Amino acid sequence: MVFWNPKNTGLQGARVKKAGKTAVVRALLAWYGHARRDLPWRRSQDPYRVWVSEIMLQQTQVERVRDFYDRFLERFPTVAALAAAAEHDVLRLWEGLGYYRRARQLHAAAKTIVADHAGEFPRTVAGLRSLPGIGRYTAGAIASIAFDLPEPIVEANSRRVIARLAGHEGPLGSAAGDEPIWEIAAALVPQRHPGKFNQALMDVGSLVCTPERPLCGTCPLAACCEAKRTGRVAEIPMKVARRAVKEIHETAVVVRRAGRVLVVRRGPGEWWEGLWDFPRVPKAAGAARRGIERSEVLGDLACGATRRLGTITHTVTHHRITLDVLACEADSAGRAKPGRRWVTAKALASLAMTSPGRRIVRML
Ligand code: SF4
Repeated sequence: MVFWNPKNTGLQGARVKKAGKTAVVRALLAWYGHARRDLPWRRSQDPYRVWVSEIMLQQTQVERVRDFYDRFLERFPTVAALAAAAEHDVLRLWEGLGYYRRARQLHAAAKTIVADHAGEFPRTVAGLRSLPGIGRYTAGAIASIAFDLPEPIVEANSRRVIARLAGHEGPLGSAAGDEPIWEIAAALVPQRHPGKFNQALMDVGSLVCTPERPLCGTCPLAACCEAKRTGRVAEIPMKVARRAVKEIHETAVVVRRAGRVLVVRRGPGEWWEGLWDFPRVPKAAGAARRGIERSEVLGDLACGATRRLGTITHTVTHHRITLDVLACEADSAGRAKPGRRWVTAKALASLAMTSPGRRIVRML
């Protein structure tokens, strides 16, 4: 059965044929019943749990989220517990997941839910989207999975499946490029079991309709797939050029004094805003000395000879940071400054730190 009428030139969701929709929904739900991924956040329809998992899964692999998810819910089992927490504790628990803005917005949204919605999640997409950090996808996920509302979702996996299913050749990944996919998703999502349907689409994308070498031979949607029917599976979705990786070289300095080390708090607008880190100077190792002397954070300290501890690399979006790590002893504690602290090794363990900062702690 052809799901999509190839004579149609547009991709408006209204053009999804009824029989095609029924076939897709039935095939997906039947497949989901026996082949779905067993994920911890799927054992409950509690909107709080669905929300936490969806925020964690943004830009993070499923396997990585598993451990963090359980630990986070153990510490903050309800939206009220999260709202009452100190931001420092939320960030500390998020450490290692990256993209800390997500944690801050999660915390802010929890406070809004408690303060403005009596601790209950809004039950509409518009209401959900009014909360910090909840966009179109997350609102659709919460609405469909937690509240059984027939709301569509489009993310990397389901976007690929829908594009192939409909034979859609346009560029994807931007708001304008994805709009036709949203329209098809909205036309497809059923009144009954919308949450299961949406999760099934994502699972098919993750397990069967993979970016390279999709398993069309065992795909539950093979009979409805326009890309398969027309032999265009390899061309859909359209390949988009990746952004070039930008190299950044910095030097991190572990300054010691009287059994303590100096840490600085990342400022507004910086990567890892609000987290603690070792001071950095934007210099190659050879010029580090001058960098330390001119540094706003270190310039008032008289530091002795530097010793090299090693090098670490870290990737943030499309930036690869190479960090030379040096150590030195300071003669004095310098002036007291906001965002600068001398801490013991024990205190380092409980600080919310940047990922490279935590790796330096392990190096020490
Ligand atoms: S038939 Fe192939 S291309 Fe079409 S949805 Fe299934 S796996 Fe993807």
